[in-house]
Amino acid sequence: MNDYYATIGVSREASAEEIKRAYRKQARKLHPDVNPSEEAAEQFKALSQAYEVLSDPQKRQQYDMGVDPFGARGGAGQGQGFSFTDIMDAFFGGGSPTGGRGPRSREQRGQDALVPLEIDLRDAVFGGESDLTFDTAVTCQVCSGEGSRPGTGKRTCGVCNGVGQVQEIQNSFLGQVRTTRPCGSCRGFGEVITDPCFDCSGEGRVRDRRTISLKVPAGVDTGTRIQLGGEGEAGPGGGPSGDLYVEIHVRKHSVFQRQADDLHCSVEVPMTAAALGTTLTLDTFDGERELEIKAGTQPGEVLTLRGQGVTHLRSSARGDLHVHANVRTPTKVDHQQEELLRQLAKERGEETPDGRLQPVNQGIFGRLRDAFAGR
Ligand SMILES: [Zn+2]
Ligand SMILES: [Zn+2]
Repeated sequence: MNDYYATIGVSREASAEEIKRAYRKQARKLHPDVNPSEEAAEQFKALSQAYEVLSDPQKRQQYDMGVDPFGARGGAGQGQGFSFTDIMDAFFGGGSPTGGRGPRSREQRGQDALVPLEIDLRDAVFGGESDLTFDTAVTCQVCSGEGSRPGTGKRTCGVCNGVGQVQEIQNSFLGQVRTTRPCGSCRGFGEVITDPCFDCSGEGRVRDRRTISLKVPAGVDTGTRIQLGGEGEAGPGGGPSGDLYVEIHVRKHSVFQRQADDLHCSVEVPMTAAALGTTLTLDTFDGERELEIKAGTQPGEVLTLRGQGVTHLRSSARGDLHVHANVRTPTKVDHQQEELLRQLAKERGEETPDGRLQPVNQGIFGRLRDAFAGR
């Protein structure tokens, strides 16, 4: 008896997928289009024969029990009655995934769907609930996905006799080559819907608009996708639905900017308040917060409120809130205010006797002056 497992190069425990892979790998090297030698032709024939047996669960079982389906026909190499599984099928991945042959099922899993959802920053910080309205295919209620008008049925396809595939026999230098293709008449289903359902035209599904209430977890950001199993497109023929992916878009907030899970905002601090210190009240997502501006606060100084930022996704910990102090210098001063500021400058020794105000880092200017003077 021929050792078909050895011919293909797999173990006796190999799965249908492993057999298919190993077969394709060898067939690519030995195919007559690639390798025209006589030796390769013989090997290709043996390989194809082995594949025909091992790719068919029934034949494989028989073979494992000691019956060689080709034994009765005189084995390989006789050049008569030789047939092998469709090469195209193996190359292009046709056929059913189980490796079995026969009509394909009308019932198929639907595709995944992607729907955008805009949320407010507050919902990203704490999580929230949103209504989501979207269109997907749903199983036809009239025919329950069957595709037939209620009360009618399907008839077996007369072209392929319900097999879903048609065979062609061609003569070639390898002997007779049998190829199998999906039946065009029934599109491979093996049966034909005699009276298609009016609502879905026999598809078994229709498009519909749905609204669901969605829990948005805290911590999501623009681009985050939430997966809802089985909420996508319904499959044809009453098949299961794909998944729904909801892609989050967080709206821009007028006060807070988000960077990862930290929030940033800025407060305007008058020059006098920055110098003397004060307390501000800031509206945060957690309510009003007292903000202490220390005396001597510099422009751009950052005050951090720990744990007042966005909640981390899949954790209850939170980022921080950073408040940037924007120290404002007065742009318009009246005569009296100018007098006060000049007096202050004089008090602080920031005014020269000729009335000019000194730069703060005068040390550097002094040195530059000395350099120009050549001292
Ligand atoms: Zn229908
Ligand atoms: Zn058919």
